[in-house]
Amino acid sequence: MPTHHLTDELLLDYAAGNLDAMTGMLVATHLALCPTCRAVAADCDRFGGTLLEDLPAASLADDALARTMSAIEGIPFDGPEAAAAGGVRPSDLLPRPLRDVVGNDIERLDWRRRFPGVQEALIATTPDGPTASLLRIQAGRAVPRHTHHGEEYTMVLSGGFTDHLGSFRRGDVAITDATVQHRPVADRHGDCLCLAVTDAPLHFAGPLGWRHRRGESCRGDP
Ligand SMILES: [Zn+2]
Repeated sequence: MPTHHLTDELLLDYAAGNLDAMTGMLVATHLALCPTCRAVAADCDRFGGTLLEDLPAASLADDALARTMSAIEGIPFDGPEAAAAGGVRPSDLLPRPLRDVVGNDIERLDWRRRFPGVQEALIATTPDGPTASLLRIQAGRAVPRHTHHGEEYTMVLSGGFTDHLGSFRRGDVAITDATVQHRPVADRHGDCLCLAVTDAPLHFAGPLGWRHRRGESCRGDP
């Protein structure tokens, strides 16, 4: 069961229908794996419903949460043993809100090498909105130390990684922004697959000393 959760603010925005499509997809994907946040989101929905009762119909949020709840019914919960071992069945790897966007077979995505041991497949990007992508980090490898101009949400789908904020396993979300500089290192027992949603290019520090914009090839690519 996840131990790193979404913020109440994000769940409120989701329940109110205020999130962009990519951030909403990340929230829905986390909700599919996290009973704790599902309970909070249900409270947000009730609270939001009370607030919205007196507003004109045109102001009412769409029913994103209810649709998510019905969509995730019947999804098997991946127990701590499976999550710890990274042993999620391939058919259950992608929770439905994510699978609906990227399909079942992630090997068919356009994977690009970002750094030694790190691949990225872009899911969607918009000029003014967040970028969503899948990241695959080889066992034991690290993403170079970086910070963010905006916020980045990184959710583990299989395997795990550790940075100075803690250890992250299936369903856990790491939330970082311009105040956080981190260097995630994948666990040694298997590759780490993550869903990342960021609203600004990453900024890499240290010896790289250059800016990395998603969708571009990294130095050293063949
Ligand atoms: Zn949660």
